[in-house]
Amino acid sequence: MHKDILNRRKMGLGTLAIHMTDLHNETHAHALPIYQTSTYVFDGVEHGQSLWRGEQPGHIYSRLGNPNTQATADAIAALEGVGLSERPLGLLTGSGMAAVSTVALGLARVGETILSQRALYGASHTLFHQHLNAYGIQHATFDGHDLDDLEAALERHDSISMVYIESPANPTMKLTDVCGAVKLAHGAGIPVVMDNTFATPYLQQPLKMGVDVVLHSTTKYLTGHGTVVGGAVVTPHEDLFRDKLMPVLKTFGAVAGPMDAWLTSIGMKTLHVRMARHCENGMAVARFLEAHPAIEKVYYPGLESFEQYDLARTQMSDFGGMMSFELKGGYEAGAALMDNVQLATLAVSLGTVDTLIQHPASMTHFKNPPAVRAEMGISDGLVRLSVGIEDVDDIIADLEQALDA
Ligand code: PLP
Repeated sequence: MHKDILNRRKMGLGTLAIHMTDLHNETHAHALPIYQTSTYVFDGVEHGQSLWRGEQPGHIYSRLGNPNTQATADAIAALEGVGLSERPLGLLTGSGMAAVSTVALGLARVGETILSQRALYGASHTLFHQHLNAYGIQHATFDGHDLDDLEAALERHDSISMVYIESPANPTMKLTDVCGAVKLAHGAGIPVVMDNTFATPYLQQPLKMGVDVVLHSTTKYLTGHGTVVGGAVVTPHEDLFRDKLMPVLKTFGAVAGPMDAWLTSIGMKTLHVRMARHCENGMAVARFLEAHPAIEKVYYPGLESFEQYDLARTQMSDFGGMMSFELKGGYEAGAALMDNVQLATLAVSLGTVDTLIQHPASMTHFKNPPAVRAEMGISDGLVRLSVGIEDVDDIIADLEQALDA
């Protein structure tokens, strides 16, 4: 492959996912090698100084940059930037939470408020609500599926550093009207940060909808095989990237290691193929659950019964593999289901090739007090399912026997 074709011609998401890391391969190895090194050798003092001054490309020390982390970050940025005239900039972090905290510490200052939607991944809420408070950064919330509530919150609070959204939200699957939220926030001169972990750039492209910073837990769909804990941040704003995000990453040091970056880059090469199957299986499983007599309600953006189905169809190209549901028998029935699955794995995390099932109230959102969970819309009986890419009949048969049990 001629490397410059990736920069010369507009390529589709699948091609970029497969080939972007080739841009960083200076060797004749077919796959990008793993640069498992902490530091880099200078030819002499002059060479070292010119690298530190940024006068020539090259690496110095792996906390500051490494070919594997750079290649993977650039690839994620390219996927988030499909359809944009300029390719955005990306950085890779040691976890999804490191991505959230790098953005929060980069953008928020003492006395300012992070305005986030209420339904949020549990640890993101805990970071904003408890830990950043200790550094003088305030946290306020709005109802993510009610733009009037966002408008009122924007009027109520001074010095808002960012509007933070997550859509679909973990685990309720509630959507935020991304274009609507961007319009209101930008009208007030405030940047929008979005967690795109559940959808991935395959299903939803926040930057095209005007979002300023997109972040991911790459632990999930981007890596896809449950082998890595990692995160990524992407933005089209060069000054924000250079002056606010990179300095926080480099000095707070929440960087990814080369091996993890490499595993993510290999996993990502099949993102488009995996996502297509996740969507197909997700829809079939959602329809099966919706029709089952033991199920009270299924929350899946692709079902006509989903409250925000119309919004889902406008801002997502398909609906993915994530869903949650309530059983008629409440918590006990949910616990019995999870104890009886045989193919699906009872584990937190999501977006892996295999099907994962978990109970948010006692697991991912356990640290959020019951009142906060209630505000987020997480009942004690809610079950979250990450539908994998196994043969769908086998997934359904497993759920069926567990529901019968
Ligand atoms: N954002 C979302 C939507 C998540 O689901 C998670 C983890 O489950 C995170 C962020 C945090 O990611 P990590 O566990 O990689 O730190």
